Amino acid sequence: MSADCLFCKIAAGEIPARRVYEDDDIIAFHDINPSAPVHFLIVPKMHIASMAQLEEKHAALMGRIMTLVPRLALEQGSQPYPEGGFRVIINTGAHGGQEVPHLHVHVLGGAHPWKHE
Ligand code: AMP
Ligand code: ZN
Repeated sequence: MSADCLFCKIAAGEIPARRVYEDDDIIAFHDINPSAPVHFLIVPKMHIASMAQLEEKHAALMGRIMTLVPRLALEQGSQPYPEGGFRVIINTGAHGGQEVPHLHVHVLGGAHPWKHE
């Protein structure tokens, strides 16, 4: 855990969030300011600042996060592929539009989520 990190505090239960999934290594919760009818974040509990810090040792963790995406997207109300589907975004660094410096995967679903940006 990194001191003063918002998503570390959510992972530790110190700040509340509307949780959609949790296991020993991963937590997913609704984005507080949704950009689409379905908008949640999947977050590794360990503090990784961004995708720029990923290393080979994180491969299994990231693989688990990515395979959670389709399951959680459907559970949260996105419509089935191919008529439905979802959008996955990982903002990285200042040029990538990252605001919270703890790696997180945005999952956006519902009709035309890209029009809500
Ligand atoms: P990013 O720009 O990729 O760093 O996105 C950070 C996201 O975190 C934004 O979409 C925010 O709405 C979301 N966010 C910020 N604070 C919270 C919070 N306390 N609970 C849930 N989502 C949050
Ligand atoms: Zn953190």
